[in-house]
Formats: sequence, structure tokens, C-alpha cells
Amino acid sequence: MTAAVLSLKDVNFSWPGADGFALGVAEFAVAAGETVLLLGESGSGKSTLLSLICGTVLPDRGQVRVAGADIASLSGSARDRFRAEQIGVIFQQFNLLPFGSVIDNILLPLRFAPKRRQRAGAAVETARALCADLGLPSSLVHAKASSLSVGQQQRVAVARALIGQPPLILADEPTSALDANSQAAFLDLLFRQTAACEAALLMVSHDPRLAERFDRVVRMEDIAVIAGAVV
Ligand code: ADP
Ligand code: MG
Repeated sequence: MTAAVLSLKDVNFSWPGADGFALGVAEFAVAAGETVLLLGESGSGKSTLLSLICGTVLPDRGQVRVAGADIASLSGSARDRFRAEQIGVIFQQFNLLPFGSVIDNILLPLRFAPKRRQRAGAAVETARALCADLGLPSSLVHAKASSLSVGQQQRVAVARALIGQPPLILADEPTSALDANSQAAFLDLLFRQTAACEAALLMVSHDPRLAERFDRVVRMEDIAVIAGAVV
């Protein structure tokens, strides 16, 4: 069996507060290079689970391992560097720096990740090449992110997640704002690029129509027990 790039074991987490939302995951793993779609209703804890995988929140119990390391065992700054090295994240709202240029935004994760920077080679050239592969006109590479269309911002978010080839790409409902045609084009692009750098892809969504493209489809209710306030 291929080594797991991500594994969760007996993880429990609850948001603070008397009736805080609580999430339990007994076992969940993603193999190196595998593409997995995680389906769940709104409020079922998908984004919370991605935060646990990123180590932006830590489990109350249990283990989250990424690329062999237990995220909770790292100190805060080591965890930030580790995340930047190992994980490319595409957020639902893209989270670009609005006043940064396209290039600034794409290079951002490399700032905190020396090995990833090394893998990116001549980083500005690599960023330009990614833009070209993603169909972003070269005339835009110095444009401010806030001046781009939604589709263009999405491409920048993908390039930022992929640069320097992190072994794990996480995507949080990145297609929810798109019509069916743009969704298909976006997924083509994401799959092509993810395969090219042999990264594993974990995408969360509430949309079962995306299922056929992935190696595996998992439902939140099959891996997670939730309790407390559910929106
Ligand atoms: P999904 O992404 O599946 O829609 P979320 O993980 O965003 O679900 O939310 C699951 C539950 O966790 C919700 O009840 C939400 O209110 C709660 N929650 C999410 N983020 C926070 C937070 N920062 N503080 C407290 N509760 C939160
Ligand atoms: Mg969410």
C-alpha cells in the first residue's frame, strides 16, 4: 500500500463554549498522490476538519499526521513552517492579499518554507510558468489581486497552492461560486496540475456532482461523529 500523506487517528475536537460544535474522527487517511472528495452538508464540520489537518487548530485528543509528522508535536512556529512546506491550501474565498500582485500572492508560501522554495527553483520564473499553464495572461502577473475577475483569482489561488510542489493540496469548496462550465474548467485545471506535481488532493464540498473525477469519495457521516451546535 502507498504511504499515507495524511492520517487522522482517534481525533476529537470541540470549539470552545458550553454548546460548542464537537467533531470526532476515528480514522481517516489519504495516500500519497490520491485524489479524495469529502462530501458533507453545510455545518457538518468540513472546514473545521481542514483546520485540524492544517494545524491552525489542534485536536483535544488524537493524532493528525501529515507527511509522517504529528502536527500537534510541533511548536507554534515550527508548525507554521511545516504547514507552508507540506500543504497547499485553496480557500473558499481564495484569501489572496488584495493589494499584492499576482506574483506576490503566488510566492507567499515560499517565504516561510525554505525547502519548498528550493523545489520551486527560480521562483519568479516558476510562478510565471504556472500562470501560463493556468491560462493567466502574462500581462496580469504584476496586476493587483483585487483587480482580477473571480476566475482569475481562482487561478492565482491554485498557483499559490501548487508552487514548490507540496505533497498535500487541500481545497475548501473552491467551486461553490462557479457555474457548471467554469466548475468543469476549474477542476480540469486543478487535476492536471495536481497530477503533474504528484500531489494528493483532498477537496471538501457539499456537491455530489463532482464525485466522478476523484479516486475516492468519502462522506462526512462515514468518517466523523458530530455533536453540539450544528448550523
Ligand atoms: P462546514 O465547513 O461543513 O460548513 P464548519 O466546520 O465551518 O462546517 O462548521 C461546523 C460547526 O463549527 C458550525 O456549527 C460552526 O458554527 C462551528 N464553528 C466553525 N468555526 C468556528 C469557530 N471559529 N468558533 C466556534 N465555532 C465554530
Ligand atoms: Mg466550510
